[in-house]
Amino acid sequence: MLSLKHIPALLRRRKNLHHLRFAVQAAFALFCLYCGYLFYLFYRWALGGSESYVARPPSVEAFLPISALVSLKRLVLTGVYDPIHPAGLTIFIAAILIGLFFRKGLCGWICPVGFTSNLVERLGLKMKTIRRAPKWLDWPLLSLKYLLLGFFVYLIVLKMDLAAIEAFNRTPYNLVVDAKMLLFFIEPGRLTLWVMGFLVAISFISRNFWCRYLCPYGALLGLLALAGPTRIRRDKELCIDCHKCEKVCPGAIRVAAKESVNSPECLGCLECVSACPVDDCLTVSAYGRKRLPTLTLPLGVLALFFLLWGWAQWSGHWHSEVPLDLLKNHYQKSRFLEHP
Ligand code: SF4
Ligand code: SF4
Ligand code: SF4
Repeated sequence: MLSLKHIPALLRRRKNLHHLRFAVQAAFALFCLYCGYLFYLFYRWALGGSESYVARPPSVEAFLPISALVSLKRLVLTGVYDPIHPAGLTIFIAAILIGLFFRKGLCGWICPVGFTSNLVERLGLKMKTIRRAPKWLDWPLLSLKYLLLGFFVYLIVLKMDLAAIEAFNRTPYNLVVDAKMLLFFIEPGRLTLWVMGFLVAISFISRNFWCRYLCPYGALLGLLALAGPTRIRRDKELCIDCHKCEKVCPGAIRVAAKESVNSPECLGCLECVSACPVDDCLTVSAYGRKRLPTLTLPLGVLALFFLLWGWAQWSGHWHSEVPLDLLKNHYQKSRFLEHP
């Protein structure tokens, strides 16, 4: 009979890594949906549409990475931890640390957008609609997310001085930016619906279109991962050239042609390791040399994420310090507030 003591052995089986990843991603996605629902109830209460108060879940700030980048610059310049969206900053710092040590582990194991994209990709693979973009198209498209990242880095890291950051932080828009994000999802405009429809449709043809070509957050994590230690290593003596690793790789990486994968597209998802039919052919390594236990990647990602979360809870950097009355007041105007 299966008992708790069998779990480590089950997790060590290569094929189960795929199921482990699915379970972790699904758990985070369900949690995000639950937080989104709580946030909607809070928003309704703030607008007077409901009598019953539901606490605002701080985790929704994970969807405010631009605000988090502004806060990170302020933290570096002044040592002040953002009191308005502290959870957003905490999650952003966790993502950066994960990127530095465990590749794009946030994308591979946690991000619900990545999970949704992976689901569409799997459906596309089953329906045989997925195609690999030719290099002449792939390379220019790949540059788009770096251009977007460069735009935000220029605007926030280079151009925005402390006075501008402080002024932005005090704007009513900054207080309600989470409510604006909620409105974006629950009351999407016609253009939003068209764009989302396009992204879903094209993801059936081009795997992970949004993540691969357009997401600046993923671009940042991919660049950080280039400097990190963890890599997938291929033992070319053991490899039988079956290319199963490449068929399942969500980063569309030519795994079978490399000895050590250190691509900014590598999510550290272990799908290649799980699919490889040869024992010890694909392994997790430090700098492509020293072999590490396979579970180092997911356990490292989750440990860093929850460590930062626990620290933020303990140190009072998780819940917003904005008084409820003030937030309620501004939420009522959120529909009409525009970016300053
Ligand atoms: S690339 Fe962006 S959207 Fe995709 S999984 Fe990574 S952070 Fe999420
Ligand atoms: S190389 Fe392996 S770990 Fe990296 S993205 Fe591809 S399947 Fe995932
Ligand atoms: S799946 Fe394993 S054996 Fe097959 S090509 Fe990839 S690394 Fe080689």
